[in-house]
Amino acid sequence: MTDAGTWDIPRLSMLFPESIIAHILAIKCPSPTDGNDMCVWRWTPKHTFELKSAYFALSGSRWSEERAIWSVIWNLKVPQRVRLFLWIAYKQRLMTNDERCRRNLSADPSCLECSNPHEMVLHVLRDCHCSRRLWLHFLPASLTHSFFSLNLQNWISCNLSTSFLHPQWNMPWCFLFASLTWQLWKRRNDVVFHNSILSDAAIISCSLAWAKHYSDNAMLSAKSPPLPQPETLVRDAPELGWACLNVDGAVSVPLNAGKIGGLIRSKDGDWVVGFVKAIGHSDALQAELWALFEGMSLAWEYGFYSLLVRSDCKQAVELVNSPLAGSSVLSLVRAIYRLRQKNWATRVIWISRDDNRCADALAKLANSSDFSLHVYNSPPLELDMLLCKD
Ligand SMILES: [Zn+2]
Repeated sequence: MTDAGTWDIPRLSMLFPESIIAHILAIKCPSPTDGNDMCVWRWTPKHTFELKSAYFALSGSRWSEERAIWSVIWNLKVPQRVRLFLWIAYKQRLMTNDERCRRNLSADPSCLECSNPHEMVLHVLRDCHCSRRLWLHFLPASLTHSFFSLNLQNWISCNLSTSFLHPQWNMPWCFLFASLTWQLWKRRNDVVFHNSILSDAAIISCSLAWAKHYSDNAMLSAKSPPLPQPETLVRDAPELGWACLNVDGAVSVPLNAGKIGGLIRSKDGDWVVGFVKAIGHSDALQAELWALFEGMSLAWEYGFYSLLVRSDCKQAVELVNSPLAGSSVLSLVRAIYRLRQKNWATRVIWISRDDNRCADALAKLANSSDFSLHVYNSPPLELDMLLCKD
């Protein structure tokens, strides 16, 4: 560290490669007032334990292969019962006669309709003569090729993941597929339990109607406008004598290079100072906290007595406003807490992203490999339009 209490980048560069330095720089330099070291949970941004994060940390990359179909089925815009049905079918857990036999619930594994010796999932949903007949009615020529030869898992995943639009009914194939498999399973149960058989025509029209309903709903939810944001008063100027600081952090994927920016304006909206800085390898919350810390440090240096701070990160605002901020596991939160204890008044509030565009634009202006604080004494050109609007 330098005498000023910041990382000594030239000396770190003599010891470590750039990729490691990016990780070091994102950590706040320790200071004598930091208190004792403590154990934290590394798998969440807030460093507090959550079961979900432990689960993901443990399962790690072992999930990847299964995950593809997992998300395809559970993200499908069909009713939950149909998703559940598809998932159970995919897992080969539907209670077909073969499965019931395997579980010692029955002595006869055969198909009631065609006397096939094993009524398996794929037999009910695709290969039994009635199912086959119905599929042939729906199948477009381009999908017929491998449809009847795939194994169960590939059959379900291929047909649900395709983006193919059925030319005749003008809807995504996945909805027709989900709808007909579901109707075929219901039909099979009607035969087994109620001894009643729906005609092919009835099943076709029912499957089509439901598929159209799914597809229309999916279109509708894709088009629906975002929920209105709650009205806030933040567009108002700060009270008399208060300066206003807007801050924002940005993290670019996949390198997780964090950048921050912010601006201080007087009560009348006049530019006082702006800043940008790269902070190294970080997550979104860390970047937002860095932006708060650097912005407030700068404001303190400028000698403001009353500072209104605006951030569009709810989590960060909650953390620094928490009564426990002084003993937070995050060193940046503790540092911000100590800064706020100085002889001045600060208020940290949340604003929407739309109201924070200037700070956002500044954060994006930073050069991700330049880790020193750049100060703008007059607004950069790129901000002209946004400032006027704001
Ligand atoms: Zn059969």
